[in-house]
Amino acid sequence: MTPYVDMHCDTLMQAWLKHKKDIDHFPKAMVDVERLEQGNSLAQFFAVFMPPVTLKKYMGPFFPKDDVYIDKLLKIFETTMQEHSDTIAPCRTYSELESNRSAKRISAILTLEDGRAVDSKMEKLDDYFNRGIRLISLTWNQPNCFGNPNSSDPELMQKGLTEFGKDAVKHMQELGMLVDVSHLSDGGFNDVAELCSGPFVASHSNCRALSFHSRNMTDDMIRTLASHGGVMGVNFGPQFLTDDPKSKESTIPLIAAQLRHMIDVGGVEWAV
Ligand SMILES: [Zn+2]
Repeated sequence: MTPYVDMHCDTLMQAWLKHKKDIDHFPKAMVDVERLEQGNSLAQFFAVFMPPVTLKKYMGPFFPKDDVYIDKLLKIFETTMQEHSDTIAPCRTYSELESNRSAKRISAILTLEDGRAVDSKMEKLDDYFNRGIRLISLTWNQPNCFGNPNSSDPELMQKGLTEFGKDAVKHMQELGMLVDVSHLSDGGFNDVAELCSGPFVASHSNCRALSFHSRNMTDDMIRTLASHGGVMGVNFGPQFLTDDPKSKESTIPLIAAQLRHMIDVGGVEWAV
């Protein structure tokens, strides 16, 4: 079976939601170690997804402090890596990916979804890097210290990165941390394309030509991403796959059509 790389899953948050304390394995969420192995995963990115601030009014005192929540998810990740060290191992560098691969271990790469956790502090960016985070999705669906998210409002969609966001993107490149434009506004995407001399990624975004969703990318954006040597990961969420309002399920033909379009517009490179 051909190995594959998945640049996004919310399994760490699922583990936190289900157990609310440390666990020694992933629950049966979107992915787990057993199914990653069965699917011949080469690398799985694990997001530390920041709970939206809008949940505060529902969760009240149970809404976690960002630092406490991040510590908890990183602990879940760490414990799981120890528990399943024969099968999966943390990956912080390309050479670790190669050594994991030779040892027939899946590479596990930590990401942060929603740069708000950086809190406008460059030293926090350094700290997350030192703790193994190798990709940041600059925004989720609210504005933050990096910039503005995707929006159906054309004016908001053109808003770009903040001054801090621009400096942070430059610093991420110096560190060797991937810049992820999934969830970002179109204005933010353009700023990232201008600031990045090398590759950046769209970890879980589809093609707007097939599904007119503000989370998805236009053909021009796909070409810009490709010209930087970047890659995009197909999003299986049904709302991002098609414009058909009756379609409530992810199907293989819909996913394959997205992949076909990405390849036709952006191209493909096989690096197996
Ligand atoms: Zn997301």
